[in-house]
Amino acid sequence: MNQMLFIRRSIDRLRMKFLIVLVFAVLVLTVDLAAGQVDDPFPEIKTKFGSTAESYRMQGEVVDYFGKVQVVMDEGDLYRRPEDVGYDFYFLGSGRLEVIDTSALGISWKGRFGKKRSIKFVSAYICGRRFPEMLMLDPNHWSEAKLKREDWQKLLFKLTTPDRFYWISLSGELGVWPEYDVSLPPVWIDLELADGNRMMVHLSPDITEQLNIYYYGMEYKRPFLLAGFEVNDRLQLAPIVLDSSIISVRLKETGDFDGECSIYFAAGSDRRGIKLNLPRLFKVDSIMNADGIDIPYIKKKERSTLYLGPRSEMEEQPDVISIYYRGKFTLTRFAGVDFPINLTRWFPHLQYRNLGQYRINYTQHKDLTLISVGDKIDEWIEGEDKTVSYTTDNISYISFATGLYDTLSAVSHDIPINFYIRQEHNRGLFNRSIPEKVMNDLVGAFSTFHDWFGPPQVQSLEMVDQPMSSGQSSPGLIHLSTNTLLMGRNQSRFRAHEMAHQWWGHTVVPKTFKDAWLSEGLAEISAAMYLIEVKHDTTEYQELIDYWRRQVVQEGKIDGLYSRGYRAGSIILGYKFLQTYSPGDYIALVYFKSAYMLEMLRFEMDGPDYRTDFFQQMLGQFCGEYAGKQATSMDFIRVVARYIGDQRAAAFFKQWLFRWRVPDFEGSYSIKPDKKGRPMLYINIEAYAVDTDFATPYPVEIEFVDGTRRLFRIDGIGQKKEHMLGPFPEEIKKVRFDPDHIILSRDTKMTKSQ
Ligand SMILES: [Zn+2]
Repeated sequence: MNQMLFIRRSIDRLRMKFLIVLVFAVLVLTVDLAAGQVDDPFPEIKTKFGSTAESYRMQGEVVDYFGKVQVVMDEGDLYRRPEDVGYDFYFLGSGRLEVIDTSALGISWKGRFGKKRSIKFVSAYICGRRFPEMLMLDPNHWSEAKLKREDWQKLLFKLTTPDRFYWISLSGELGVWPEYDVSLPPVWIDLELADGNRMMVHLSPDITEQLNIYYYGMEYKRPFLLAGFEVNDRLQLAPIVLDSSIISVRLKETGDFDGECSIYFAAGSDRRGIKLNLPRLFKVDSIMNADGIDIPYIKKKERSTLYLGPRSEMEEQPDVISIYYRGKFTLTRFAGVDFPINLTRWFPHLQYRNLGQYRINYTQHKDLTLISVGDKIDEWIEGEDKTVSYTTDNISYISFATGLYDTLSAVSHDIPINFYIRQEHNRGLFNRSIPEKVMNDLVGAFSTFHDWFGPPQVQSLEMVDQPMSSGQSSPGLIHLSTNTLLMGRNQSRFRAHEMAHQWWGHTVVPKTFKDAWLSEGLAEISAAMYLIEVKHDTTEYQELIDYWRRQVVQEGKIDGLYSRGYRAGSIILGYKFLQTYSPGDYIALVYFKSAYMLEMLRFEMDGPDYRTDFFQQMLGQFCGEYAGKQATSMDFIRVVARYIGDQRAAAFFKQWLFRWRVPDFEGSYSIKPDKKGRPMLYINIEAYAVDTDFATPYPVEIEFVDGTRRLFRIDGIGQKKEHMLGPFPEEIKKVRFDPDHIILSRDTKMTKSQ
């Protein structure tokens, strides 16, 4: 949407319009209901399935998922509830999941099933609209039946699985699909495999991949994504794209707020099934289209998915929807742990970041200062209230802060920088000049990244002290944890990480959920480079790399969230790691493993002694080429390939980005004189627990008798076992293998042999 339209639709006029149509809507609604609404858009899927049922003998029935996979029911009985709702079924018998299109199978699929393309199952829970019609089952062939106790118990567990493990509401999933499409395969199938493990097939209007297959293996005790297929061309005409949003929010001193968000969809995007996100504890009061007519929705308590359903098959898709909602800007709950609310996710938004324009009107007490993403265009006071109005360019999200602040200001590279420190926090701090030190560090990071990566997409930069435990970065606005003023050692890294997001995340925007690492991994490695190259804090840098390694290799908790570390899958799964059982995987892999991967790339490009800065140049080039655009992992790989070649770039990212395994290194070394009596170092090293084509360069440090140390690089570890360094003019005192832990590994055992 253009700026003109923004201005034309002032929020007050919009409000008036809704008041008028609200009255009108009541009339229309009654008429419409009388005309016959097709069905409940969100049919209730009961979490109980009685032991008495009706059964249907099945043979050779095939459910085809757009030529990607097929669920084949070879022989068995299909059960349905006696009070049939027509949406969910239980199959007992023999069947197969057949993979037709192998191109999109994830690496974890290959790692776990090898070349297997046909997987047998013994039972299946199926949820889909008009499933019997789709299979053309004879409605007269159902007969009374009873489910065995053990089958019935398994079924009860399967009924609770979507919500428990995936926060998926089956009613919601049914609601977002059009009623009229009889050929649409089930939205959810839960297969019990012959070995007792399970696989789930899920069809959902995701932005990038709509058909996902999960594996729930007893040996892992956690479900994870095996494969995702894009079926947009078969399912939706075009993915949903937001054009712009107008948000009005009234902030109360209690932390409560009332909000109203009107979302304009881009022309041509298919809005039959809409799934939005809204924080778990926020409540939706109503949703309307432009004519003020109610749009049905589901927003479950403590779930962040907001499903919008079509009202009837005849209805036109809405160009704009208005969501009226409220909540509290305090804590949110995630996997049983309380966190401060995500400041970038307080308005209804698509499940993955999507560029759009925003206009936001904040109303709050007139004495408070409001800081927001965007450009302030208006401000007015009415009684005790002040309303401040902002607009933005095409950006991925907005956030704000409010309070009473003291301000520090600076300018770097012609960009004004302001640091807002909460007044209640500031007393006493200014005396110790801590805010100035923090400000200097922040400006230093900004200036460094500007030199390295080029100009960010901001006209000014605001930074605000926020009473929360972690930082967050929005375009042109950084929320810093109050802890940042405590001057702990690693605060400099946290600050630099948030600062780096002005480039990685906001200047170059990751395109899909798979590319999330381009934001987090690059922000983390930029912060690490700032520590080593500008602050020369090698201790902090070493501790950081060790910390990354531990989080990737361990199985345990990160920030209170359970994680399986690298076992969870490859970095490329991105947002798909955000599931209930081990949500810490997202931090372990998308932040830390990807930062580690980039550190290995830096070693490969500039190591072993880092006299060149090709890695930094490459980042600057990538940033320059994708500034103001969305970038994918492949875009990044293409830029890297200019430095290390197509072949090596492909191999490097294949093993670290697309695959999940982490190596062990083991071997031995010996020091022997050559013919002239000069010392030679012979190394025998192998990589274990990785794929057969794994190869990596590897650093070796030699300490000579005179105390000098030199770093060497040996290549092709994993493919080449025997290596040789030397001859050296001096005797070798000590050999250290990867002393700085540059190469990610679970364990390294190198013994000296004679
Ligand atoms: Zn981050």
